Amino acid sequence: MKIIRSVSSFRAWRDRFPFDASIGLVPTMGALHDGHMSLMERSLRENKTTVVTIFVNPIQFGPREDLKKYPRPWRNDLAKLRGRGVPVLFAPEPRAMYSDNFSTKIRVGGLSDRLCGSPASRGPSHFEGVATVVAKLLALVRPSRAYFGEKDFQQLRVIERLNDDLNFGTRIVRCPIVRENDGLAMSSRNRYLSAAERSSAAMFPLALQQGRKLLTSQRKMSSEAIIRHVKSILSAVPALRIDYIELVDPETLRPAPARRRPLLLAGAVWIGRTRLIDNILVS
Ligand code: AMP
Repeated sequence: MKIIRSVSSFRAWRDRFPFDASIGLVPTMGALHDGHMSLMERSLRENKTTVVTIFVNPIQFGPREDLKKYPRPWRNDLAKLRGRGVPVLFAPEPRAMYSDNFSTKIRVGGLSDRLCGSPASRGPSHFEGVATVVAKLLALVRPSRAYFGEKDFQQLRVIERLNDDLNFGTRIVRCPIVRENDGLAMSSRNRYLSAAERSSAAMFPLALQQGRKLLTSQRKMSSEAIIRHVKSILSAVPALRIDYIELVDPETLRPAPARRRPLLLAGAVWIGRTRLIDNILVS
């Protein structure tokens, strides 16, 4: 596996790559798990070569968020990438991506302000940081396809919008959520959970599943009533605090009536000091 750590070396590699051969891009923040690996496997199948990036992007973390303690198991990650036959890893240091004079931000209006982007949650600057780093990666890698997980559904929508708006011409590929046996969506942040918190966390996908059941079986029930039901299940779980539970149109991410299809049931919860997100797309 070729490991590239600077923008100039990456550009040199890219410029030597045949212009008509396809490149798949899989951006990650590392601490790799089977969710990440599913994106890579798909990219390896569909493209001539695959570039995986590991970059814990400082500008998408708020001042009180977990940037410092975000897991960075570098050796483990390398072993996983080599094990799957990933040919190219781009893993820049923050200063390679953001010089002292860096002053450009990409802001995807509307989509960035809802759900996780609302002021009561992570706030819109989170998606500004995501959109900026993804735009940099798309410009640098010029991939035919880029792979993103539906686990971060709002992020996916922000990236689809920015890819269209800025004419990158990359195909954004949506990949399904990979879950643990008990339904918890895989996440690098799951490793923060204590054993007791881990068992509380399993109630999060279960509560969303209950919401989904109501959506398909109680066709007269309102969005508000379904959200109340999901919240009431979660309120009974020890150490769990609800950030938000919403039913939204998966295109606009605006609140939508329960009869709308497709419909996204999306949520974020705190388990102790760990914030988890999950969603179910009802089509
Ligand atoms: P992250 O390292 O958390 O920034 O995630 C990198 C990519 O992997 C993003 O496109 C995520 O949506 C995707 N991803 C993370 N967890 C999962 C999962 N459980 N299933 C599918 N994709 C995932």
